[in-house]
Amino acid sequence: MRRNAQELQKMRRAGKVVAEMHEVTRTAARPGVTTRELDAAARRVLERRGATSNFLGYHGFPAVICTSPNDMVVHGIPGDYRLREGDVLSIDCGAIVEGYHGDAAFTMAIGDVAPIARRLIEVTERSLWTGIDQLRKGNRLHEVGRAVEQVAGAAGFSVVREYVGHAIGTAMHEQPQVPNYWPGSPGPTLKTGMVFAVEPMVNAGGPETKLLDDGWSVVTLDGSLSAHFEHTIAVTDDGPEVLTLP
Ligand code: MG
Ligand code: MG
Repeated sequence: MRRNAQELQKMRRAGKVVAEMHEVTRTAARPGVTTRELDAAARRVLERRGATSNFLGYHGFPAVICTSPNDMVVHGIPGDYRLREGDVLSIDCGAIVEGYHGDAAFTMAIGDVAPIARRLIEVTERSLWTGIDQLRKGNRLHEVGRAVEQVAGAAGFSVVREYVGHAIGTAMHEQPQVPNYWPGSPGPTLKTGMVFAVEPMVNAGGPETKLLDDGWSVVTLDGSLSAHFEHTIAVTDDGPEVLTLP
């Protein structure tokens, strides 16, 4: 699906709201704060900007952000969990403006964290930007995953395979998927106006995950730390345009 100039303008606006949710939750996240309080802060951004949530009610999801600490990979439900010094916290945010979606995530250190945690965060973010750089017209989509996997693998980390990025527009999750690894074929050729959410999930240990009993929280099977970075990006004539930056 290719988006025209008008549609891209709406997606830019949704992206700005998501960027503001990032800023607000990043500032609020410190030792002693609960993940529910972060969700409340993100809700206030949506209200202030007249945007709606694509997370709330998605297959029954009860919040506007996902908060995934430490060995949790993605989809953690905000609640009573109280952040502690040394935590590694992933926050995923989304917004809808005039029917168009934005989706982006980041991982942060809560206070002082172990060197391995700091390195995992740095490598995962770098893998995202290396993947984003592949989103150029004429390129094949799955070069993204190849690039992400190379960066994570070179650092001795593993890329999660059960969860992937996606095209995005009038729905949060559109086809095609954007794997964070080389899936064995090059995928579709990129054209101007295509928009994708690229979202590497990188584990300090093995790539395997499991789903907790709440039906949402995905954790690493071996208990190792995990990080997650995501942006929504449009393919333009001038290269990738990241829509979820401030
Ligand atoms: Mg997301
Ligand atoms: Mg996403």
